[in-house]
Amino acid sequence: MIRLVTATAVALITSLWACAPAWAQDDQKVILVTVDGLRWQEVFHGAEARLIDDESVTDEPDDIRARYLEPADPAAALMPFLNGPMASQGVLAGDRLAGSCMRVTNPHWFSYPGYNEILTGRADPAIDSNDKRLNPNVTVLETVNRLDGFRGRVRAFGSWDVFPFIINTERSGVPVNAGYSPLPDDGRPETAMLNSLMMTTPRQWAGVRLDAFTHQAALLSLKHDKPRLLYVAYGETDDFAHDADYDAYLTSAERTDAFIAELWRTAQSDPFYAGKTTLIVTTDHGRGSRQRRAWTAHGSSETAWDRLTGQDWGRGSDQTWIGLIGPHIQVGASPAPGQCWGADQIAATILGALDLTGEGLMPMASVAFPGVLNSPT
Ligand SMILES: [Zn+2]
Repeated sequence: MIRLVTATAVALITSLWACAPAWAQDDQKVILVTVDGLRWQEVFHGAEARLIDDESVTDEPDDIRARYLEPADPAAALMPFLNGPMASQGVLAGDRLAGSCMRVTNPHWFSYPGYNEILTGRADPAIDSNDKRLNPNVTVLETVNRLDGFRGRVRAFGSWDVFPFIINTERSGVPVNAGYSPLPDDGRPETAMLNSLMMTTPRQWAGVRLDAFTHQAALLSLKHDKPRLLYVAYGETDDFAHDADYDAYLTSAERTDAFIAELWRTAQSDPFYAGKTTLIVTTDHGRGSRQRRAWTAHGSSETAWDRLTGQDWGRGSDQTWIGLIGPHIQVGASPAPGQCWGADQIAATILGALDLTGEGLMPMASVAFPGVLNSPT
């Protein structure tokens, strides 16, 4: 009897599910992308001649100059998607030479504090190291993953192996695939191939896998998992900069722009995502710019390396940028003159783009960017 009731209940639930996807068809999705330590200077103005001419950071100046400096529009040559569709059909903010200001509000100006601020909507000065410590703060990913209709529909992919700690996957239940860790075996040949390449390709850095692996993993997730909130965290740009390799930093920026364009194209070609997905692209910190090689480093005068060297190379590395595009985004919105947008406003903007405003979900988070969110069209 119990079995019969159970079977009837299962049949009923199954039939309800079968006719329920109305919400799933219409609801909004968000793809959040971060590009670690990519400066606004390159995003808006392309490669910097001064650094290309510096043989201590650029190995192939003729090649780099031809690819990134000689084109009529150097910014579009470096990052055609950000400076093209994203800027013209959405928002691209943070070009300080044009009076547009974006920054991190945390006092440290390096990765974990930056990602914590972006994802939790609040700067936490106590997050003062990149160590693999479980984040005590709750991210927007965790908040959304707890909601009906979103549970199990949030995914994160990162090149840096600290992301499982930043997102606190133990507590949040948000699946995070990051660093040199293979994807779970799902029986698909494409997953097995990606895992095989990831684990057998020579490694540039111990804790950061090459972005191509993160990107392909995110594409597979878009295709098969259909997350409603997807976070993709590319990492190469920061590490090539720390390596004082401007050639590789620039080519990585160009590749990442193409990755972002592919995420967008993939979403727009899938009825599940097309016309109801907001793409947000930003960075966790800027880089120094004042002194000759300051570009290789970042961090505030609070940070240990700065105190140790007695240098001020990191000045300006609180300066960041952001791009947004999608049905909820007001085309051409920008920070008001004299105002600066903060990375702590991104979490609330994500909630708004998912139609989760006014729910008091993240009371500690800063408000969404003013004038950016409109009604879906
Ligand atoms: Zn760094």
